[in-house]
Amino acid sequence: MNFRPTKFYLLLFYVLLLNCNVQKKQLTKDQFKLIPQNWFNGKTLLDRVKILSSDEYEGRETGSNGAKKAKDFIVSELRNLAVLPLAPNYIQPFSFKKSNTSYRGENILSIIKGSIYPEKYIVLSAHYDHEGIKNGEIYNGADDNASGISALITFANFLKKNPPKHSVIFAAFDAEELGLIGSKYFVDNTIIPLNSIKLNLNMDMIGRSDTSELYIIGTNHYKQLQSVIPEKSLGLQIISDEHDGIGKGINWTNSSDHASFHSKGIPFLYFGVEDHKDYHQPTDDYEGIQPIFYQNSVYTAISIFKKLDGMQL
Ligand SMILES: [Zn+2]
Repeated sequence: MNFRPTKFYLLLFYVLLLNCNVQKKQLTKDQFKLIPQNWFNGKTLLDRVKILSSDEYEGRETGSNGAKKAKDFIVSELRNLAVLPLAPNYIQPFSFKKSNTSYRGENILSIIKGSIYPEKYIVLSAHYDHEGIKNGEIYNGADDNASGISALITFANFLKKNPPKHSVIFAAFDAEELGLIGSKYFVDNTIIPLNSIKLNLNMDMIGRSDTSELYIIGTNHYKQLQSVIPEKSLGLQIISDEHDGIGKGINWTNSSDHASFHSKGIPFLYFGVEDHKDYHQPTDDYEGIQPIFYQNSVYTAISIFKKLDGMQL
C-alpha cells in the first residue's frame, strides 16, 4: 500500500512522534534500571570522576603534583579492592624528553589472574594524565579521561567479584596526551611476554554524548571482534563502522593508547565518544558528564568484555 500523507496522516504522524519522544525519555530511565544491581555502583563510578577532575588534581599533567595525587588515588583504590600489583608497588616508571623538557612518567599496572586461561592476557586500559594548567586555567579532563579511569577501577571491582577466564591487566597509562608515551613504553618493556597479550580494550572519553552515541572501533582491523558488538546497548547507539579507517569520520586508529597495541599486531577495541565542545578545553568538567550515558557506556564495556572473555582468544 502506498502511503499518502494527507493532513490527517501528517497530524497522526506528528502525534506519534511526540509520543515517541516522551517514551524515549522514560525508556532511558527505565533502561538504566536494567543494569544489574551487583555489576557496579553508579554513584561510586561518578564520585571518582568528580574527585579526579577536581581542581585539586591540577589537570594531572605528567610529572606534576596533580598527576602524583591522581596516581596515589588510583593505587589506593586498587589496594582497597585487593587487586594485586603487576609492577612493584603497582608502578612502572619511565622517563623521556619532549620539546627539550625532561619528563618522568608512571604507568599504574595491576592484575587479576584468569581462572581458565591464566597465561593469556586481556589488557584493559585508560590514561590518567591530562593537559595540566595553561595560562592559569586548569584543564580538569573529566571526560578526558577521568571517565575512563573510573571505569577501569569499576572493572577491577567487578572482576574481583566475577573472576575472569583470561588474566586481566588493568593499565592506567601516563603521558598519553604527550604522544601515547606510557602505553608505548608498556608494549616495548612488557613485564609479561608480548605474545601472551591477546587483546586490548581501551577507554578514553566515555562520559558524555548529546546524541547517545558510543563509538567502539577496531573491527576494521580485527574483523573477528565484530560479532561481540551490538547495534544498541540500553539507551546507546553503538557505532563501529567509522573512525578506524572506514566511514566518513577521521581515523582514530592512532589517536589513543590502543595504537601502541595495534603497532604490535595486538587486536584492540577502543571505546570513546565524538569530540565535543569541551574536548581539550578547560571546560571539560565534572558537570559535563552525563550520568546515564556514562553508566550505560560502562555497562556496555563490561558486557562486551564478558563476551570476549567467554571466547578462546
Ligand atoms: Zn584522552
